[in-house]
Amino acid sequence: MPETTRQIRLVSRPKGWPTHENFELAEVEIPPLQPGQVLVRNTVMSVDPYMRGRMNDTKSYIPPFALGEPLDGGAVGEVVASESDTVAVGDTVVHQLGWREHAVLDARHVRRIDVSEVPASAYLGVLGMPGITAYAGLVRIAEVQKGDTVFVSGAAGAVGSLAGQIARNLGAERVIGSAGTPEKISYVVDELGFDAAFDYHGESVARQLRKHAPDGLDVYFDNVGGDHLEGAIANMKDFGRIALCGAIGQYNATEPAPGPRNMWLLVTRRLRLQGFIVTDHNDLAKEYLSTASAWIREGRLKFRETYVDGLDHAVDAFLDLHRGANIGKMLVRL
Ligand code: NDP
Repeated sequence: MPETTRQIRLVSRPKGWPTHENFELAEVEIPPLQPGQVLVRNTVMSVDPYMRGRMNDTKSYIPPFALGEPLDGGAVGEVVASESDTVAVGDTVVHQLGWREHAVLDARHVRRIDVSEVPASAYLGVLGMPGITAYAGLVRIAEVQKGDTVFVSGAAGAVGSLAGQIARNLGAERVIGSAGTPEKISYVVDELGFDAAFDYHGESVARQLRKHAPDGLDVYFDNVGGDHLEGAIANMKDFGRIALCGAIGQYNATEPAPGPRNMWLLVTRRLRLQGFIVTDHNDLAKEYLSTASAWIREGRLKFRETYVDGLDHAVDAFLDLHRGANIGKMLVRL
């Protein structure tokens, strides 16, 4: 049993893009287990865009990270010691104490996972928070219908790559994606089966959407905000629905970004825009898990993971996620 372990702490709050100076790698003692606790050796941890918001000291739907304390977030690992009756040594579990090599936590705060058909890491992506986000956004917020034309931004990322496929599985007729590189465009179209995708670095989003969806969009699943949202609004059909999932184009901005300039279209086209946070939809998790597992088995829900190795490089992984280095879910192998 190791006596010490390493963790990443936030030591100052970033302004704009985070830098390595905002973080420190600390070595700490592993405390003795209390009754009911387990020790997990983390094998894979997640880096997610929402963590950027938690580095700011602002009131939000989730508390900010505390200075001098380890960061946290989704992780999977193996139980290496247990003082619990319900979780045993050798169990593979998912929990929320990432950004560290070992986690000591109450057994109530870990969930045993079935790794017979998917790797444990799938519970941080396709069978985890990003998957439920995509499903909830489409089912509950955008209320995707049979025959819909659906546009998904961030289409090669964790949430977007699943959202496009799930939209199709729920009956969408035409699925269009946007992403940042030619490699991502071909991944989305050739491997995931989107009908079309475009690189947003080219012509304006509005113009490219006009080309790919000449009859307009029923649904927009927004991961990016800004020009993507404005471009989608310009191309919505009457009574179109927009699920506002994220605005990654703005998370590292130092000034508030201006909103879409075409809000009047919300009135004339009778559009509905609704933001949502996945944790309000945890009641969908069970239904999603069984539906998604079946889709994976049938080859109708594909997923990819991009790995960075080692806790020492976790901050790089987090920064690279915002720079678009990932296809599918960005993960750190510990
Ligand atoms: P991704 O795996 O999609 O990774 C982020 C991607 O964003 C990058 O790969 C990059 O791809 C893209 N990106 C970065 N900067 C820009 C930019 N300026 N314009 C357009 N694209 C950009 O992350 P997730 O799937 O985890 O998250 C996607 C979105 O969903 C985020 O906005 C996130 O905050 C949101 N989210 C919301 C949740 C909720 O409950 N509402 C829950 C989970 C996620 P590219 O190369 O294409 O630029």
